[in-house]
Amino acid sequence: MTAATALIGIGLLATQDDALGEIAGAAVVTAGEQIVWVGPAGSVPEADDQVDMGGRAVVPGFVDSHAHLVFAGDRAAEFEARMAGTPYAAGGIRTTVAATRAASDDQLRANLAALAGELLRAGVTTFECKSGYGLDVATEARSLRVAREFTDETTYLGAHVVPPDIGRDDYVALLTGPMLAACAPHARWVDVFCERGAFDADEARAVLTAGIGAGLGARMHAGQLEAGRGVQLAVELGAASADHCTHLSGDDVEALAASDTVATLLPLAEFSTRSPYPDARRLLKAGVQTALATDCNPGSAYSTSMPLAIALAVREMGMTPAQAVRAATATGAKALRRNDIGRIAPGMRADLLVLDAPSYVHLAYRPGVPLVAQVWQGGRRVV
Ligand SMILES: [Zn+2]
Repeated sequence: MTAATALIGIGLLATQDDALGEIAGAAVVTAGEQIVWVGPAGSVPEADDQVDMGGRAVVPGFVDSHAHLVFAGDRAAEFEARMAGTPYAAGGIRTTVAATRAASDDQLRANLAALAGELLRAGVTTFECKSGYGLDVATEARSLRVAREFTDETTYLGAHVVPPDIGRDDYVALLTGPMLAACAPHARWVDVFCERGAFDADEARAVLTAGIGAGLGARMHAGQLEAGRGVQLAVELGAASADHCTHLSGDDVEALAASDTVATLLPLAEFSTRSPYPDARRLLKAGVQTALATDCNPGSAYSTSMPLAIALAVREMGMTPAQAVRAATATGAKALRRNDIGRIAPGMRADLLVLDAPSYVHLAYRPGVPLVAQVWQGGRRVV
């Protein structure tokens, strides 16, 4: 029988499980990679090992369902110019594309390993990773091959922008033909940047439909810069997630509320581009499943800090601390259509965080403070 470990002395346990709720004075028992028992500390069953959390709060490991981590170079100069008054527009990624195409696999791998380490220390125990800085068949495919070494949640985002060296129609044909064929074996998801300056709704439909036909799940970037047709297209195609959702029509909100498509909000992008934040309260009030993710990328949000995303969601987007933590865990898992992570309950993967605080509220109450004291992943302490 697998050895069991009891985590005792938990101050406040926010399970994100509807049946279990929040438990003050809790314990969790893990065996192997899984959680096998959750309840009040007074009735914890005997285990081989005991670890005392000393009254600190425990939450599920964060699920970052939206990140762009395979690239080379950085764009600090562009950020500096933007902060001096140059407005953000889609298309600045061409600098990163040139650096990524020129980089070796080992350089891409080293950069991704560093970012994955940052994510883990910030409490992210599962992350999604997109391609999208190759924009040619060879670089997109090797980007996904490298990403697969770090996560199962890999996303083919050849449809990030149209590169300058090819016509639009030819590029969409490449995206839905040879590039998809080369990338699909290394990807779980297909994504498209449906936005002015990137791909219109007809092109987005072609890309997602082809990806779905190749066995990939759909997700979409939509509504970052203006309300368009993207969100409703994501819903129509059964996408797992529509991401950004900063600018939404009333019909968009209704369509999301009536669907299984999660609205994934990315406040670090608004923070880093000095843009208006999405209205999370409006979405939650309408019954939309709402997740938070980092959108970590070198152009518009170069941060791996899920705790900062939580603090921004509370301070700027109208979420309560409880809603923000739910969005960064259980609803993030829904955005990846995963039912084994994002909650602390028997049968789930033992991915959990010990906070240097008595309650998860401190994640928003103490912005910028590194409160993630321990990270447990698959039943093992890794931070
Ligand atoms: Zn993105």
